[in-house]
Parts: sequence; structure tokens; C-alpha cells
Amino acid sequence: MARSKHPIPTLDDFRSQLRRHNLRATQQRLAVHEVMMELVHASADDVQRKLEEKGVSITVGSIYNILSSLADDHIYSRRLSTAGKMYFDIDASRHLHLYDRENHFFRNIEDEELSALIAAHLKRRKFRGYTVEDIDIQIIAKPTRKTKKI
Ligand SMILES: [Zn+2]
Repeated sequence: MARSKHPIPTLDDFRSQLRRHNLRATQQRLAVHEVMMELVHASADDVQRKLEEKGVSITVGSIYNILSSLADDHIYSRRLSTAGKMYFDIDASRHLHLYDRENHFFRNIEDEELSALIAAHLKRRKFRGYTVEDIDIQIIAKPTRKTKKI
């Protein structure tokens, strides 16, 4: 099996990222990251639900603040659902997504060929007055059959 180029940061990786940003490895931050390791992409509500299943109680507001500050420090990244709800991504590096617009679910996809194609095309494109800083590829799809909401 091909190894993913975007492995999930372990708790130790997360601790060193926090250290690099001079953030304390608080119990709350570690609990949020532990849940994010399972969810990968999640809203503050999703994280709270999962924490509650584990018997950990943190308010949605605190969870949102933790996720937001991690995204501000580029440890996590943000993704917006079509319904305008904020989701957080445990992986801040550039990668492709498939977005299930019915279940509001993001999945990382590997497609080096597509990325290379777009990067090569954009090298030849000029946008007057702008410099391309980043490319965010999100394929929006609906499930071919009814699936249970995750
Ligand atoms: Zn992702």
C-alpha cells in the first residue's frame, strides 16, 4: 500500500509543533488534537461530540478557540462547508480534497497528476495585478447512494 504523503501528526509531532509556536501543551489542546487524529477534518461541534463520548467535557466555544488559534498558527487549516460552517483540517500543508456536499464531509485525496497538471498550467497563466500564492483544489461531489451521516 502506498504511504500517504500527508501522515496524521502524532501527539508527539503535535507537542513539538506547539513548542515551535511557543504554545503550552495544555490538557485541552492535547485532548482536541487526539480527537482530530481520528476525525482529520471536523467542526468544533464534531470535536465536542467526540470528546463527550470519551467523557471529556470542554465547551464548544473553547474548542472553537483552540482550533482557530491552531489554524492561525498554521498548525491546522480551515475549510468552509457549502453551508458556511467552519471545519478544521489537522493537516495545514497543501493537499487535495473531495467534499461530500450532502454529508458535509471532507476527505483527502491523492492525485499527483492533477496537481502537476494545474501547477504546470498556472505557470503559463498570468493574472494581471496578482501573484498566485497558493492553489486549493476541492472536488465537490454528492454520494452516488444514500450513506449514513458520519
Ligand atoms: Zn485535508
